[in-house]
Amino acid sequence: MSEKIQIIEVGPRDGLQNEKKPIPLGMKYRFVENLLGAGIDNIEVSSFVRADRIPQLSDAAELFQMIYNNKLAGNFSALIPNVKGLNRAIECRANRFAVFTASSETFNKKNINSTIEESLHLIGEVLAEAKKTSTSVRGYVSTAFGCPYEGKTKGNEDKVIEICEKLFDWGVDEISIGDTIGVGNPNQVKSLIKRLEKKWDLSRFAMHFHDTYSRALGNVMTSIEYGIRKFDSSAGGLGGCPYAHGATGNLATEDLVHLLHDLGFETGVDLYKLKNSSSEIFEFLGKTSSSKVHHAIGDSCGK
Ligand code: MG
Repeated sequence: MSEKIQIIEVGPRDGLQNEKKPIPLGMKYRFVENLLGAGIDNIEVSSFVRADRIPQLSDAAELFQMIYNNKLAGNFSALIPNVKGLNRAIECRANRFAVFTASSETFNKKNINSTIEESLHLIGEVLAEAKKTSTSVRGYVSTAFGCPYEGKTKGNEDKVIEICEKLFDWGVDEISIGDTIGVGNPNQVKSLIKRLEKKWDLSRFAMHFHDTYSRALGNVMTSIEYGIRKFDSSAGGLGGCPYAHGATGNLATEDLVHLLHDLGFETGVDLYKLKNSSSEIFEFLGKTSSSKVHHAIGDSCGK
């Protein structure tokens, strides 16, 4: 049997959060349902941030309710900004929580209006409460390889390690290392993974690459070579970072799956069903998928 690589689909949350045109609840629900149908069982569904901060995701509670009313089975996570958001997520029976910080001081300030220390304080509060439930928690450490404001700062790797230490100490189960603006290179990826490996089991990490400069798959290859077996990605490459000039967004799940299958890894994902799962949303938004594979495989439903 071939080795399995786990994909964490972030399209419904990370992918849609910056889209200005309001997407109907039913369409978001179908997106999640179709992703499950394509074989993706780890999906970050939405975020319990304040509605005025991210209006697109203000229907998180309704979306979770629809998922459970219709008895969809899978791992459905929600991004949690604070204890208030956590309580809403618990009510909605999100079965995985995610907390967020960045290794760059300026990015944190501009993105979530707090210092790293302040954001960690909030995360600590959330985790203290979250751990009273049996729900698992994943932590995001963003800007791990570069920041739109600070560039590739010296010492950033130390900061990433320091943040991971705190998050694990406080009970986070898994950490997703994010290349938020897609500027990381394979040498940086290798260097960081080697440091993480000295302290922790690499099964506790996922990598979250952006494809702004077409580096995501190269960085995936390096991550696999050095022992990472979990990756975040977004159907059709939905999403992006509003702070990254010209950012095309997240690594497209189709591109990731196509490469992994070709390398002989198992993902459980049906590439054609996956491609079709995001089409309705792209059509609605009047955009085209940034996934090269999406276009290369055409409309055929065959193999
Ligand atoms: Mg992202």
